[in-house]
Amino acid sequence: MEPVHVIYIAGYGRCGSTLMENVLAGLPGMTALGEVKYLWDRGCRQNLLCGCGQPFWQCDFWPGVVNDALRKQGIHPSWEEILAWQRASDAILMTPLRLWPALDRRIGGQQCTRFTELLGQLYAALHTASGRSILVDSSKFPSYGLLLTRLPNVKLHVIHLVRDSRAVAYSWTRKKQRPEVHWETAYMPRYPAVRTAAAWYLHNRLAHALKHRAANYRLLRYEAFVENPGDVLQEVLEEFGFQSDPRRLELERLQADRTTSPVRRHSVSGNPDRFRQSSTPIQLDAVWRRDLPLAARCSVFLLTWPLLRSYGYRW
Ligand SMILES: [Zn+2]
Repeated sequence: MEPVHVIYIAGYGRCGSTLMENVLAGLPGMTALGEVKYLWDRGCRQNLLCGCGQPFWQCDFWPGVVNDALRKQGIHPSWEEILAWQRASDAILMTPLRLWPALDRRIGGQQCTRFTELLGQLYAALHTASGRSILVDSSKFPSYGLLLTRLPNVKLHVIHLVRDSRAVAYSWTRKKQRPEVHWETAYMPRYPAVRTAAAWYLHNRLAHALKHRAANYRLLRYEAFVENPGDVLQEVLEEFGFQSDPRRLELERLQADRTTSPVRRHSVSGNPDRFRQSSTPIQLDAVWRRDLPLAARCSVFLLTWPLLRSYGYRW
C-alpha cells in the first residue's frame, strides 16, 4: 500500500511556516493542513475557526476526517481522554529520551500506543478526504514529528525551517489577534525576548533529531526561502523525491511574481495569516532590525549564539 506522504515543517513558532504553507497550498497535488498537533484541542474540543472561516464542527472537511479516523480505530473516547494520551506522548521535554530506542517505546506506555494508532488512522483519513498525494503539516514541534516517524503508513519529509532568533523574539513581543476565537476578542500570548530565545534554542536543537528518523530532512533558512521561493522549493521537493513536473509552472510563476496563490484551505491551527484568501507578496519581514531594543537584541544573540552561528547568521 502506498504510504501517505507528509511534508512536516519543524522548528519554532514565528519562523515563517504559515507563509511557506500558504505557498505550498497553491502547488498542485498538495494540501496544507496547519498545525495538526492542535487538532484535538483547538479543533475538536474548543471548536475554533478552521482556515476556511467556519467553526471546526461546521467545516465541510474536518468533522468527516475525525469521525472516519475514530470509526476505523473502533474507539469512542472523550476529547479529554485523547488529550491525556497526547500529553503522555508528545511533550517537548521527552524528545531527548525518545532518541534512545529502548526508552522510546516505553515513554507514555499504553496511552502513547493508543495515540499513535489514532494518528495513523487520522493521516490515512486526511489522505483520503483531501484527495491529494502530499499533506503539509506545520506543527513544528520536534516531539510531535518524532511520533509521526513511528507511523508505518506515513512517509515523513521534514523541512526544518529556521529564522533569525532576533526576528522570532521580536515577533513574540507583538500584539496579535486570534481570529479563530469567534465568540470574543482574544490575542495570542506575548513572551519576553529572553524566554523566546531559550525556547528557540531548545526547539531547533531538538529538531535536528528528525534528521535520523524521517525519510528526508532539509534544513532551510526562512530568509533564503523568501529571497528565492520558487527555486528553493523546487530544489527541496526534488531532493525529497517528488517529481517537479506537475508543479513546475506554479514554481516558475512563484519565482517570477513572488506572490502566493489565493487558496481556501482547511488549516486547523496556526498564525492568523492562514485566514488570508487573497494573493499576498512574499517578502522579508525584517522590522526587528529597526524595532527590537538593543538590550533584547544582545541577550537573544548571546543566548542563541552557537546555534545561530551554525545556521549562518551574524551580528
Ligand atoms: Zn475548514
